[in-house]
Parts: sequence; structure tokens; C-alpha cells
Amino acid sequence: MTEAQFYTPLENNAVGCNLCPRNCIIEAGKFGNCKARRNRNGTLISEVYGKIAALNSDPVEKKPLYHFFPGKEILSIGTTGCNLHCIFCQNFALSQCDIRQPVSVKSFSPEELAALSLKKKNNLGVAFTYNEPTVNFEFMVRAAELVKQNNQKTVMVSNGYINPDPLKILLKNIDAFNIDLKAFDDNFYKKYSKASLDPVKNAIKIIAKSGKHLEITNLVIPTLNDDEFEFAEMCDWIAKETGRDTVLHLSRFFPRYELDQYPTPPETLFTLFDIAKEKLNYVYIGNMATELHSSTYCPTCKTLLIERTYYNTRKHAISPEGKCSQCGKLIMNEI
Ligand code: SF4
Repeated sequence: MTEAQFYTPLENNAVGCNLCPRNCIIEAGKFGNCKARRNRNGTLISEVYGKIAALNSDPVEKKPLYHFFPGKEILSIGTTGCNLHCIFCQNFALSQCDIRQPVSVKSFSPEELAALSLKKKNNLGVAFTYNEPTVNFEFMVRAAELVKQNNQKTVMVSNGYINPDPLKILLKNIDAFNIDLKAFDDNFYKKYSKASLDPVKNAIKIIAKSGKHLEITNLVIPTLNDDEFEFAEMCDWIAKETGRDTVLHLSRFFPRYELDQYPTPPETLFTLFDIAKEKLNYVYIGNMATELHSSTYCPTCKTLLIERTYYNTRKHAISPEGKCSQCGKLIMNEI
């Protein structure tokens, strides 16, 4: 554990946490809403600092990132806790529990993590993922700094529910982001995630403006966020604010946690895919076997560039500079 950043001391030993848009007021002895930060006698403590609850080598495609060093592996870590409470959470065992519940954790210092990342073969660097990495802000900042010093890459997979000032600190040492845009409706965020949409849109705009690599994921849940008009509005917004080349992943929903809803029908995903492709150059369907919708094609000459089967990646007509070998269009900078 370590003292948290971004908090303000208040009367009676209470504190105000300013890390994320919840801006929790936390009484002495109590946890914040994310169950990761606790007020100990007027000092806000990150209780998850160095407590790694999940650690794996994953294909970078699994984050998902499809235009960021395709085919590479990345050391991926998570802790516990989350500042959102989505009833459909696909990773609820980590995100919705806390260190008082029986999730086994392993202690790691940022130095140990950076050293492990360097030691692994074919490893791109470190991804902060699985639960919401924002709630492990202090560890992530330090570990990312060390990983970068070793000339490796860093990735954050996030719900985007973070205040602008801490996000700007992360931008110094995080190379690539995948941000969940859960729906384009504030009522959805309020009802199903106990949060709000605007801070997420704001975080996406800040990341896009920074020039860091950005991909967006939308988990398509039948009847909850699959309205075609709303989806088209979301794609228009992405194209306008972050550009037509922003990668959008449509992820198939399977029932998890508190939401007993049927899995997303493939036809729904195909329809939304077609809508998105009218507005964005790179759209993929994930969580479902469909090579046609998970492979990369040149938006100009339609050549197959990278073929994907699940997380297996085969490069065909893409140059070492990330250009289409047929027409020369630049597809991705990081390859
Ligand atoms: S990071 Fe946690 S404690 Fe801080 S405001 Fe967000 S939910 Fe509350």
C-alpha cells in the first residue's frame, strides 16, 4: 500500500478523492466507491498498490489492440476494484471484489514488474488491464515509467472514467489505450454502470488529441445498447472527434455477472459493423469467430493486409513501415 495521489484533506479526517469523476468523499476508516482506496486516519491510501491479482502473457490482440504491434505478446496485469459497477461486467471476479475478499494476490514492486517484462521473450511490454487500472493509478504511473526506461511499450485498457489531470500524467508513459465506450446514451451509463457518459467522451478526446495510440471497444448487448440510430450517432462522434482511422472493436456479449441476457446475435453485430464501416476505416468484431470481420483490409484498395483467426495473426500485404504493400496507404504506425 502507498499514499494515494489526487486527494484533498477535509474536516474530521475525511478526504475527497479527485482521481475519477466520482470524486468520493471518504470518511476516516472507509473505502472509496472503487474499493481500492481507503482513508486511514485522514490519509488516502491505495490499498491495491503492488497487489497483483492477475498476471499473464497475452497476445496484444486480446486487449484488444489490432493496430499496435500486431502478433506480439504483452505481459498483462490486473489488481482488484473498479470505479464502475456494470451489471454485465465480463471480469467481475476481479473488478467487483476487494482485497478483503478471497482473491489471491501476489506482491510485486514496480521494479520487479518492469524486470519481469524485460526478461520475457517476444514481449512488447506491460498492459494494465483486467480490472480498471485507474484505481491502481500510483502503481501504474511508476511501473509504466520504469517499463519505458527499458524501451518497452505500455498499454492501458480502461473504462475511461478518469479525471483529466491524472489522465494527463498517464499520457506521459502510456503508449496505447483501449477505451470502452459502453453506449452513446447517458441513461445507459447511469442505469447499468452507475456512472455517466460525458467524462468518458472527454477522456477519449484528451487521448486522441495527445497523439497516443487509441482504439475503442463497444460491447454490444442485445436490447440494451444495440439501437442502430444511437450506434450510428456514436460512430459519427468517433469519426468527428478522433478521426476516421480510429479502430473500433464491436465485442460480442455473453451473459455474465448480474445480467441474464442472451448473447449478441451475429446478425446484430454484422448490421452494426456495416453501419460503422460507412463512417470509420477500421472496424472489427471480437469475441466471435469471423475472419472476415476481424482481419485488416486496406480501406483504399481493399487488399487483405492482416488475417486474424481468434488471436492468431498472419501478416500478408503490409510493409515493415505499416503501409499497404499494394497501394502504399499508411495503415498503422506501430508494427
Ligand atoms: S478512484 Fe475510487 S475513491 Fe477515488 S473518486 Fe474514484 S471511485 Fe472514488
